[in-house]
Amino acid sequence: MIYLDYQATTPLAPEARDAMLKWLDGPDGSGFGNPHSPHRMGRMAAAAVELAREQVAALLPPGGKVHFTGSACEAINLAMRGAPGKGAISVTSIEHAAVIDTARALGNCHELNVGADGQCNVKQDIPANTKLVAVMQVNNEIGVVQPTVEFHRKAKEAGALFFTDAVQSAGKMPVTGADLIAISAHKMHGPKGIGALWVRDGIELDPQITGGLQEDVRSGTLSPALCAGFGAATAIALERSEEDAAHAQALWDRARELFHEWTLNGSAEARWHGNLNIRMDGIDVARLMSDCRDIMFSAGSACASGSGRPSHVLKAIGLSDAQAKSSIRLGWGRYSSMEELEAVAGMINNAAAQQG
Ligand code: PLP
Repeated sequence: MIYLDYQATTPLAPEARDAMLKWLDGPDGSGFGNPHSPHRMGRMAAAAVELAREQVAALLPPGGKVHFTGSACEAINLAMRGAPGKGAISVTSIEHAAVIDTARALGNCHELNVGADGQCNVKQDIPANTKLVAVMQVNNEIGVVQPTVEFHRKAKEAGALFFTDAVQSAGKMPVTGADLIAISAHKMHGPKGIGALWVRDGIELDPQITGGLQEDVRSGTLSPALCAGFGAATAIALERSEEDAAHAQALWDRARELFHEWTLNGSAEARWHGNLNIRMDGIDVARLMSDCRDIMFSAGSACASGSGRPSHVLKAIGLSDAQAKSSIRLGWGRYSSMEELEAVAGMINNAAAQQG
């Protein structure tokens, strides 16, 4: 099996796994304490959580606080549902379902268009009564990078808060320019089941899960193991960000040669180069995936696949239903090799040729 689906999730870094093990210790160990207990074992667990919080904060801008959550979806819901004030919510038409569906559920949702390259033009109007603008930093389906710094400025001028979903960018590029930022550990070689919401100092969110409010605005006992894994994954991502980006770029350059008969979806330049979303007219992607079942890759986004619906992102950049349904996504990163990419290209191109 070859794994090229890094936008869906990433392999756990060995450093993150090592950092987690101690905090999974059973009755013989001392690592299973509740980080919210005042006794010694609790304080040890709390110290691990606080170290992780510092490690995660190092990835994010100064002047705010990291709140751990159970996922990025939860962080997104907390940011959008908990944001103070009344008014419209402006979101790009290519946001992750966690953002778009939440905006629609809240009502008064305004969608910002994107161009054929997947970029959202900052010159678009936002409604006068907008309270929150949400623009993701890197899109999960087509990898396109959005001008978040400019949108943050625009939101500020309009008196609105700016939220960015940095799930696909954190650990890969600097995350800047926002009032609220959501990230997820499992997209950056950390464990699944933990995310975080960074909140700029001075912003008061309305809690969405009540209980003990262990995380100030969020209730629920934290898992020191998941926090430690997230923290370690973050530290490694920061340490290796240039090396990881150069590796992704080298694979991208080769992939562009290997898949030259395919059409690229979204911008080639304003893009995270660990994401290749391509299409070939007339290809039956379900058949292609079944012919290439030893390759872990995706048709559209991991969330939309299987639903039978064409991807809303590919539709938003102007593709027809047929073009969207003849698109595939390959994603690579730190642990992917050139040999794997070349083998995958051989298998996919062969399978596509057999359909011709
Ligand atoms: N936002 C983006 C851009 C994503 O790619 C994902 C995961 O697919 C999420 C949010 C949700 O992250 P999580 O799996 O931590 O809920």
